[in-house]
Amino acid sequence: MHIIHGEKSGWIEVITGGMFSGKTEELIRRLRRAQIGKQKVQVFKPVIDIRYGLEHVISHSAQKLTSQPVEKASQILELTHQDTQVVGIDEAQFFDVSLIQVCEDLANAGVRVVVAGLDQDYMGRPFEPMPELLAIADFVTKNAAVCMQCGNPASKTQRIVKSSKLVEVGAQDQYEARCRTCHDPQFSKAGI
Ligand code: ADP
Ligand code: MG
Ligand code: ZN
Repeated sequence: MHIIHGEKSGWIEVITGGMFSGKTEELIRRLRRAQIGKQKVQVFKPVIDIRYGLEHVISHSAQKLTSQPVEKASQILELTHQDTQVVGIDEAQFFDVSLIQVCEDLANAGVRVVVAGLDQDYMGRPFEPMPELLAIADFVTKNAAVCMQCGNPASKTQRIVKSSKLVEVGAQDQYEARCRTCHDPQFSKAGI
């Protein structure tokens, strides 16, 4: 994409929260509304998220939207067409830190950037590059899931399998939503 400064104003919207908090649903909702408004929309996701195949962004409730898989954040700039008005990015926590500059460049070029990603890993630690992205965003939405233990609002993601890898891609079989009280960051390490 060729950057022309000062033409029209873009901005960065970030949708965050734990797993199952509805980030992908909300991303899809916003992008569909943009499409209804006849805006040119492109959607990207990292190739690492191979859960449901490569060519769609899919929510846990099975809503889906066509997307382009990319290996590195810089490819998003290369693949964004000159006339694209809205860029959606899902699973932002799996991108490298250059995603921040990519989002800034797009927004500065007049693009509305809607980014969804996990704010914390399974241990409850900030998940790079989301902290920086949240800091530079123009708008931030953070929603809770439902705690699978007690029913309270859940801001944490519990890994329910034994593994200490940072990235263990999976859904209900490997993770569940938990509140602060029910979240046990050490669980996946303990007892092995
Ligand atoms: P995210 O992208 O944040 O992981 P999704 O948008 O893919 O979330 O999925 C949200 C949907 O997941 C909800 O609408 C609901 O149907 C389902 N779901 C499954 N478990 C939970 C839970 N513990 N809390 C809330 N929603 C859940
Ligand atoms: Mg999601
Ligand atoms: Zn709980």
